[in-house]
Amino acid sequence: MKKPRFKTPTGTHDILPDDQPYFQKIYNVCENIASFYGFKKIDTPILEETELFSKGTGLTTDIVQKQMYVLKTKGGDYLTLRPEFTPGIVRAYIEHGMQSLPQPIKLYSFGPVFRYEHPQAGRYRQFHQFDIEVIGEESPVIDVQIINIFYNILKELKVKNLAVEINSIGDSQCRPYYKKLLANYLRSREGALCADCRRRIRENVLRVLDCKEEKCQRIVSQAPQIIDHLCEECHSHFKRVLEFLDEIEVPYRLNPYLVRGLDYYTKTIFEIFSEEKSKDESDTKDFPVKNALASGGRYDNLVKMLGGDNVKAVGCAMGVERVQSLMRTRGLQLKKQETYPVFFAQIGNLAKRKGLKLLEEFRGVKIPIAESLGKDSLKAQLGLADKVGAQYTLLVGQREALDGSIIIRDMKTGRQDTVKLDKVVKEIEKRLR
Ligand code: ATP
Ligand code: MG
Repeated sequence: MKKPRFKTPTGTHDILPDDQPYFQKIYNVCENIASFYGFKKIDTPILEETELFSKGTGLTTDIVQKQMYVLKTKGGDYLTLRPEFTPGIVRAYIEHGMQSLPQPIKLYSFGPVFRYEHPQAGRYRQFHQFDIEVIGEESPVIDVQIINIFYNILKELKVKNLAVEINSIGDSQCRPYYKKLLANYLRSREGALCADCRRRIRENVLRVLDCKEEKCQRIVSQAPQIIDHLCEECHSHFKRVLEFLDEIEVPYRLNPYLVRGLDYYTKTIFEIFSEEKSKDESDTKDFPVKNALASGGRYDNLVKMLGGDNVKAVGCAMGVERVQSLMRTRGLQLKKQETYPVFFAQIGNLAKRKGLKLLEEFRGVKIPIAESLGKDSLKAQLGLADKVGAQYTLLVGQREALDGSIIIRDMKTGRQDTVKLDKVVKEIEKRLR
């Protein structure tokens, strides 16, 4: 085979016909559960003003610093391919005056997001997310309802070994103090940290907590924990979140080192993983390999930050490709053989012409009919009719085309009847009934 001149850009991928049933299945499950819980669908533009993300997602985040696809339009505006859904949905909430409707507003969306990442397994530059947001609600019960929704979506998609991790990262009352405390602690051990973390102490100190370097993890394990430094309000919010979680059947664990990549989170944050035992034989520690599937949290300041009222909110996004890949490797077969009750076969030009019209008539009465109008060989066409499992093959040869008739062949018995062409739809309807 010739080497193709053009390929998908690095980090992007085609969703081929064989992949589509997985995407469809994931979408259907997400949509069913979201609708059950009263969520309404929203689609926002894939392009938004760059400033929406630098303000919303946050200047100190990896996403804004390193991962955005920014373009300058011919008119001189700066637009960005959305790296996540939340800022766009919050923009829509404000722009369309949704704060004057009964609260909360519950929205979901599904579609591509773009991040300039280092592509590797499960990490793309264009990938899909299913996203839900509840805007205008501060009760901790909603934080838990969202966890419950994603947990159940993944369970229904038969994803195994699910684990929920949860933490609270406080709010503007208590987080600044904790950050100072943490920075002080880390500064006294700066020499033992990796270069990135030494930079993070100044720029984004919480991110030291989830550094993957072993030497940093050792230092972090002795660090002060935010849980011990939450203000009254955050403490009670988190306590109630955990109580609600105990109520439903979602296994979870507290992870005091869980932080999120986005600036806008307050209070509750969580992540849902699928865990596997490490396949690496040399790995003596029995740490599971974590595959992050969905993550989210509360963002009580974002609506105001983007110019709206002081409205509290919480949301979560799930990575569709990662879920799909698990469904595939677990051997979940979704490809079903397509079957058609009827097949249309023809010989000659005039018969092809009659066929074009006849197919539309079948579509009108919603009877699926397969065909291969481009083929001339009758044998090849009958082979296809078998393959799609047709009960009846309709055949127009040269003679039938001329006298306006058609042959109905019962594929099981081999019996053939000739009827008038304009009666065939009725006849097939009758026989299929
Ligand atoms: P990670 O820590 O894996 O980079 P993240 O914190 O950037 O994830 P979010 O922004 O919260 O992830 O996105 C939610 C989900 O989207 C993730 O849990 C993951 O399943 C999926 N996801 C994130 N980045 C990618 C990517 N580059 N390619 C494919 N899926 C992704
Ligand atoms: Mg990321």
